[in-house]
Amino acid sequence: MAFNKNARLPTPEAVLETISLPTKLKKIKEERDTEIREIFERRSDKFLLVIGPCSAHDEDAVCEFVSRLAKLQEAVRETLVLVPRIYTNKPRTTGEGYKGMGHQPDPRKAPDLSEGIYAVRQMHIRAVRESHLTAADEMLYPGNLPYVEDLLSYIAVGARSVENQQHRLTCSGVDVPVGMKNPTGGDLSVMLNAIHASQIPHVFIYNGWEVSTGGNAMTHAVLRGAVDVNGRSMPNYHFEDLMYAAALYGQRQLANPTIVVDTNHNNSGKQFSQQPRIGLDVIQSRRNSTILRDMIRGLMVESFLAEGAQGVNDGVFGKSITDPCLGWEDTEAFVKELAERT
Ligand code: PEP
Ligand code: MN
Repeated sequence: MAFNKNARLPTPEAVLETISLPTKLKKIKEERDTEIREIFERRSDKFLLVIGPCSAHDEDAVCEFVSRLAKLQEAVRETLVLVPRIYTNKPRTTGEGYKGMGHQPDPRKAPDLSEGIYAVRQMHIRAVRESHLTAADEMLYPGNLPYVEDLLSYIAVGARSVENQQHRLTCSGVDVPVGMKNPTGGDLSVMLNAIHASQIPHVFIYNGWEVSTGGNAMTHAVLRGAVDVNGRSMPNYHFEDLMYAAALYGQRQLANPTIVVDTNHNNSGKQFSQQPRIGLDVIQSRRNSTILRDMIRGLMVESFLAEGAQGVNDGVFGKSITDPCLGWEDTEAFVKELAERT
């Protein structure tokens, strides 16, 4: 077989022992998980905001971002729960380009997956220590979940993974909210099937074991827009799109029917600066419909310290090397406005 065995990876047990989450931070994680869970279970009317860079490629910049976010969280704590996006594995449309810190702890160097596993844990734990905010990450590779499952308060399954059986089954054993994105083609039934699959029990192979799971009642929908057959962005955040998605969702017997709207990707057509307008448009739609007010419980926003995006070698601190992001000043203004309008 044409696989070169580059290195044997450390086991999750060994990694968790080497870089463990300190007891004080475990307690913070529990409190945060409860606060976030209450949104999905309708015991809290706070609005969820998953916000941060498209990819977390630089620990110092990410920690600076989350520390600023922590101050902002204090200012908006009555109405918003902020969850930093610390995404460490990136799906790539053509398979080329930077695949995230899990692959390349240094984006300018060759992949080193063992070092990537440690770097990812290190960054997540430092971010919690410095901000007391526990984060979201994308579960691109279900097999990697054991390395980080004790750290995350929110997990996303991306548009290119949502139809995959292993992702769906793995999510059925997760005990934090999982956002299932609509696929890039826009088919909402794929997303709803993924929610269904992950809300029910399964038996399967996971982390070297036959495991059984109970289903995750906090698995929900994330609308991220789509691309049509000509490659044109087709947003799905407008009032009519949301009402349509809510109606389809309502026809299913799914627990905690909840929609989070992703304001970037094919909703903005990657026009990152449109995100505040799109986010506020969604808030207005919630005001116009009691169904949407109940179902739409959050937004997902791509934001970093410096606005836009750069090449891997350009070296601007806190600027995305994948999708273009909103800069800090606009982020701060947007979050404050959101807090007032929700
Ligand atoms: C992302 O969140 O950066 C991302 C890649 O999203 P999607 O899976 O919706 O393309
Ligand atoms: Mn992105």
